[in-house]
Amino acid sequence: MVDSDKKDISDIMYEYQSSQDKLMEENVALRQTVNQLMEEVERMKKPPLMVCEVRTVLPDKKAIIKIPNGNSFLVEVITDEKLASGDTIYVDQKFLTVLEKGDTQKKFEVESFVIVEKPDITWDMIGGLTDEKERIREVVELPLLKPELFEKVGIQPPKGILLHGPPGTGKTMLAKAVAAETNSTFIEIVGSELVQKFIGEGAKLVKDIFDLAREKAPAIVFIDEIDSLAAKRIEMGTSGEREVQRTFMQLLAEIDGFNNLGDVKIIAATNRADILDPAITRPGRLERSIEIGTPDAEGITEIFNIHTQRMPLEKVNAARIAGLMEGFSGAQIKAVCTEAGYHAIRDGRSKVFESDFESSIERIRQVDDDSYPAMFG
Ligand code: ATP
Repeated sequence: MVDSDKKDISDIMYEYQSSQDKLMEENVALRQTVNQLMEEVERMKKPPLMVCEVRTVLPDKKAIIKIPNGNSFLVEVITDEKLASGDTIYVDQKFLTVLEKGDTQKKFEVESFVIVEKPDITWDMIGGLTDEKERIREVVELPLLKPELFEKVGIQPPKGILLHGPPGTGKTMLAKAVAAETNSTFIEIVGSELVQKFIGEGAKLVKDIFDLAREKAPAIVFIDEIDSLAAKRIEMGTSGEREVQRTFMQLLAEIDGFNNLGDVKIIAATNRADILDPAITRPGRLERSIEIGTPDAEGITEIFNIHTQRMPLEKVNAARIAGLMEGFSGAQIKAVCTEAGYHAIRDGRSKVFESDFESSIERIRQVDDDSYPAMFG
C-alpha cells in the first residue's frame, strides 16, 4: 500500500467518524422532541374538568354540587381542601368526583368582557328623533340629574327603558348621549354574546356587571340585542334554553333589586320587540318603551348635515340628496357620506361632488340592510 492510499483511508475514517458524531447528536435532539411530543399527547388525552359550584357540604367527604346545566348531584370529594357552599370546584366529568377547589375569590374580570367607557356623544350629534330624544331625556336623564324633583312630586321614574326599531337608527348613540350628558359610566353588553360566550356563566356575569355598575355609578347599563336573552320561550327542552332562561332571570332579579331613584339606569335595545317576553317591560322594570324608527325627510337632512359637517362639498344640493335617501337608516346615511368621500379620493379630488353622493346612494341601496351596521356602523 502506498502512502497516498493510507492517507485516503484515514480521511475516509475521519469523515465517517464525524458524520457518526453528527448523527448521534441529531438522534439525541430527535429523542428529546419525541419525548416532548409524547408528554403533550398525554396532556391532551386528559379530559377537561367541569367547573361546578358547591351547594352543600356533607359529612364523609361528600357534597351536593350544581353542574353548569343547573342539575344537582350528590358526589364524592377527593380533594383534601376545605369546601364551603358557593365555592367553585373542578369536577371530573365522568365520575363527577370533586378533584380540586377553584379560586373562590375569583370574580369575572368583567371589564374585559364588556365595553366600559365614558362616551362623548352629545345630543346634537344625533339627527332627527326630536320627540324620542326628549322622552329619553325626561325618563332617564332627568332622574339621574335631579332625583329630588321626583322625590318632591312623589313619582317613581322607571329603572330603565327599551329602545326598539330597525338596525342602525341610533339606539346605541342615544344611550351613549344619556351617559355623556349625565357624566355616567357607559357599560355595554350584547345579549347574543352573553348567551353564546359565557355558557354556564351568563347569570354570574350579569350579576357581576351590575355589581360593577353600582361600583362605577352613576352608570348606564346598555343591553344591546336584549331579545337574545329575553325572547318569549315556548318550551324549555334543552339545557341551552334553560341556561338563557337563568341568565334572563338574573337580569330581572338585578332590575328588581335596585332603586328607581338610584344612579344606575338600564337602556335596552332590540330590533325584535315583537318576540320579547313581556316580563321585561312589566311595571317596575323597563316600563317605558320608545320606538326608534328610520328618519323622516327632516331627520335625513339633519343626519346628512351632521355627517358632512367636515366634508368640503362642491355645489351639493343637500335637500335633493336627502330626498334620494328616503327610508335609509342613520347608519346608511353615514355610509353614503363615507362612500362619497372615498369616491372623491379615488378621483384624486379634495372636494366632494353631488354625483359622488348619487352613486354612493345607489351602491348602499344595493347592499342588504342587515349588513350595514357591521360594515359601516
Ligand atoms: P343596531 O340596532 O344595529 O345596534 P343602532 O340603532 O344601535 O343599531 P347606532 O349603532 O346608534 O344604531 O348607529 C350606527 C351609526 O350610524 C352611528 O354610529 C352613527 O354614526 C350613525 N347614526 C345612526 N343614527 C343616527 C342619527 N340619528 N344621527 C346621526 N348619526 C346616526
